[in-house]
Amino acid sequence: MTSRPARTLFCPECGKETSELYNDRCRECFLSNITLIKCPSVIKIRVCPVCGAHFTAGKWVRETDRREVLFHEITGSIMLHPDAKHEELDISEEEIDQSRFLAHITVSAVVSGLNATATADVEIRIKNETCDTCSRIAGGYYAGIVQLRASNRIISEKEVDRCIELADHLLKKLTEKGDRFAFISKVEELKEGVDLYIGSATSCKQVCRAIIRELGGSYTTSPSLVGRKDGEDLYRITCAMRLPEFIRGDIIAIRDLVIEVAHQDKQIHGTDLIDGHKVSLGAGMDAPAVKIGSRNDATMTVLVAIEGDTVQILDPETYETILLKKPVFFHEESRSEVRVVRTNEGVFLLPEMLNSG
Ligand SMILES: [Zn+2]
Ligand SMILES: [Zn+2]
Repeated sequence: MTSRPARTLFCPECGKETSELYNDRCRECFLSNITLIKCPSVIKIRVCPVCGAHFTAGKWVRETDRREVLFHEITGSIMLHPDAKHEELDISEEEIDQSRFLAHITVSAVVSGLNATATADVEIRIKNETCDTCSRIAGGYYAGIVQLRASNRIISEKEVDRCIELADHLLKKLTEKGDRFAFISKVEELKEGVDLYIGSATSCKQVCRAIIRELGGSYTTSPSLVGRKDGEDLYRITCAMRLPEFIRGDIIAIRDLVIEVAHQDKQIHGTDLIDGHKVSLGAGMDAPAVKIGSRNDATMTVLVAIEGDTVQILDPETYETILLKKPVFFHEESRSEVRVVRTNEGVFLLPEMLNSG
């Protein structure tokens, strides 16, 4: 192996002897002549005092970590030497007052094969400005209404609370995914139900679907023209959400059947209490359904005897012996008590557990 003889060179700028030239200068002169970092003396950041969102690249962005916001804005405002490679940025901040920071930036990079470092200070000014979302919420803005109601009955307070919980949960998820108008700006209580005013029309439909997934029911939408903006028609959407007439555990009479309801969508699903079979049927004009009781009203009563296809029990109120057809869910021969519900259509045995339908 032979080694290359070192040539003797002179730096034309400082005259020092050197073994290698960088851009026709010695290492020191080269490094002192390059500008590794260029940055403005002041960076202004608009931050929403309500939700903490900040304005960047023409839009409001929700970023919860203050340091990440600073880092993002600083890296977006500085310029590094065009030949810089493997750059590493370190930023430390110093508070000047409530709305001003001094950011100390240290950058190290490789330029033309040499390690170079530089530091710079930037003043960060935070300007409080209410973001588009927060000003819309404050102004009661809405793009759609979800009307919470129940079919043929008044929606219960418990159901309204659960619907609002489901809506809040879904809107929070949509907000995290970037929908900045997935918010409820107003909850209006009416005697027939509750109206939710929602910031984005698409999230109205998703709220209805989330409610239906858990509580059943259905919804219809209708748009209404509310004006024009920038030459385009402005619509608002109204979603009429209807919870089902019957809820889990309701006992209803429909046609010649008595059914304990498991759930209701377009059909009523449940258990026929007379023979014990599972049934699904549509309710409507041709087959009106009437609520005659609820599992909540059930009581225990004495099982007197089982004879073939019949069951003898005591009426829980009159203590008279009643004879019932043995339903298919009934196989509690060793028990002395059974669960029954008394309705104006008679007394019915209930399955121990309500099936999921
Ligand atoms: Zn030199
Ligand atoms: Zn905000």
